[in-house]
Amino acid sequence: MQKKEKSFGIQMLSVKPDTKPKGCAGCNRKIKDRYLLKALDKYWHEDCLKCACCDCRLGEVGSTLYTKANLILCRRDYLRLFGVTGNCAACSKLIPAFEMVMRAKDNVYHLDCFACQLCNQRFCVGDKFFLKNNMILCQTDYEEGLMKEGYAPQVR
Ligand SMILES: [Zn+2]
Ligand SMILES: [Zn+2]
Ligand SMILES: [Zn+2]
Ligand SMILES: [Zn+2]
Repeated sequence: MQKKEKSFGIQMLSVKPDTKPKGCAGCNRKIKDRYLLKALDKYWHEDCLKCACCDCRLGEVGSTLYTKANLILCRRDYLRLFGVTGNCAACSKLIPAFEMVMRAKDNVYHLDCFACQLCNQRFCVGDKFFLKNNMILCQTDYEEGLMKEGYAPQVR
């Protein structure tokens, strides 16, 4: 996954009365207002340049917009959808913010990575898992580890 933040500037321009009206990239109608917005090399009504998620008018909330996958988004939604949660404690790759994650203490994991790091057993909801030396372990491996170290398992 590439980690490029795609933000673009928004300019507010006043329309000179003697110029030919520009077409709005949002609604395709001519812009006859006194002001228009210029973003992504296109012209927009102030009302038409909106965040695809929360519908806020981007010209008002700031001077930047974010795009990804043909969506135009405000910064908040962009980060919510495409920002990152942190690094997966198992594979140490970045986890995008929109992805479901598993958490154990301060660690976050991809769903796919959340498995016993010794026997690869996946956990279902309600299964017990253990965190030891920052490794996720199933109950069997955890108890085996304890036995090897000479401790009696505490969880029964
Ligand atoms: Zn428009
Ligand atoms: Zn938004
Ligand atoms: Zn991972
Ligand atoms: Zn295991």
